[in-house]
Amino acid sequence: MPVTLVDLNELRSAVRDLCSRFPSAYWQENDRKDDYPKGFVDALTEAGYLAALIPEEYGGAGLGITEASVILEEINRSGGNSGACHAQMYIMGTLLRHGSEEQKRRYLPKIASGELRLQTFAVTEPTTGSDTTKLKTTAVRKGDSYVINGQKVFISRVQQSDLMMLLARTTPIEQVEKKSQGLSAFLVDLRQAIGHGLVVRPIETMMNHHTNELFFDDLQIPADCLIGEEGHGFRYILDGMNAERILIAAECIGDGYWFVDRANSYAKERIVFDRPIGKNQGVAFPIAHAYVRVRAADLMRYDAAAKFSGGVACGAEANMAKLLAADASWEAANVAIQTYGGFGFAVEYDIERKFREARLQQVAPVSTNMILSYVAQHVLGLPRSF
Ligand SMILES: Cc1cc2nc3c(=O)[nH]c(=O)nc-3n(C[C@H](O)[C@H](O)[C@H](O)COP(=O)(O)OP(=O)(O)OC[C@H]3O[C@@H](n4cnc5c(N)ncnc54)[C@H](O)[C@@H]3O)c2cc1C
Repeated sequence: MPVTLVDLNELRSAVRDLCSRFPSAYWQENDRKDDYPKGFVDALTEAGYLAALIPEEYGGAGLGITEASVILEEINRSGGNSGACHAQMYIMGTLLRHGSEEQKRRYLPKIASGELRLQTFAVTEPTTGSDTTKLKTTAVRKGDSYVINGQKVFISRVQQSDLMMLLARTTPIEQVEKKSQGLSAFLVDLRQAIGHGLVVRPIETMMNHHTNELFFDDLQIPADCLIGEEGHGFRYILDGMNAERILIAAECIGDGYWFVDRANSYAKERIVFDRPIGKNQGVAFPIAHAYVRVRAADLMRYDAAAKFSGGVACGAEANMAKLLAADASWEAANVAIQTYGGFGFAVEYDIERKFREARLQQVAPVSTNMILSYVAQHVLGLPRSF
């Protein structure tokens, strides 16, 4: 039976209750120290939310993408940041859809219980960036092992993860018909890899986001780390992208509502020239405009999620939801900081922190241009540009 918006209210309020135990002082402190919000992620794991998409037979909650998206939306709407933990929700989809039964039984129940963390997804490389199929990290089969060499960049939560989904080339690009062929997905045990052929170097960023450069130098991994068939990894990763787009859209929507709520309240309370600043249409209209944009993105998110759950092709809707939501949250962020005036820049109001965090989604996990390129080529049939 399709999930209705009313069914979601109970889930929303349960997630809100959990988030209320982690107020803005908690997020400010983490941001100031560049700490990982471990207490929050542990609480989410314990409550089973990070296992939302894992089927019940493997110990998860067996929920759909709409419910999963609502969980992430509510985290961001509460003032928190799902970036600390969202990846687990979509990475495990690759394992679930393409892993062997043995791999699923070995890993999924432990991921669902929190005993194992699968929060790292290693695709991006310094020299090839968005041109994923040209990535240069290689995995060469040697007996019962693969030997990995190469480099990755902006790989998040390595220190907070036990397992990493890695995309590497197993057949040289010159030997495949299509450049998307010859790439393979591996589930790497980070606990065995770090210090034995894998070096991790943290990258400082403008917001609290635990991301890293990775250097592979003859890292040997067991051959049974391969997910599905050798050479088909790019398709497996692409398969998970619609879920990722929908979930990230939901986070942006949560941020968008948070910014609009904050700007709205402040515009009613702040008295300048003997009247609330919100009485000036120059202040009120941008807030109203931002709200309209967030609502529109929200509808596209539900449309994409319903199609995804119904097994209908949803690449167009998932990508459009992500683009609309990232734009809407960024517009709302700008409106909030403008409405708060100087106070928007003061750490204690949280606006500047959320503003920094909201900027990321224009670039990662997929940049706005890559989405427009997808819509131009695959939805509108315009000529391919690269
Ligand atoms: C904080 C953070 C965390 C991240 N976490 C992860 C992670 O966990 N795992 C992972 O694999 N990656 C991760 N990434 C990487 C992220 O997915 C990439 O940064 C993103 O895909 C863009 O790649 P790039 O940075 O190499 O930009 P580039 O590919 O160099 O692009 C630079 C700019 O040019 C534009 N551009 C490039 N080519 C074209 C074109 N043909 N047409 C139009 N515009 C174009 C892009 O849109 C972009 O704006 C993270 C990035 C950040 C910043």
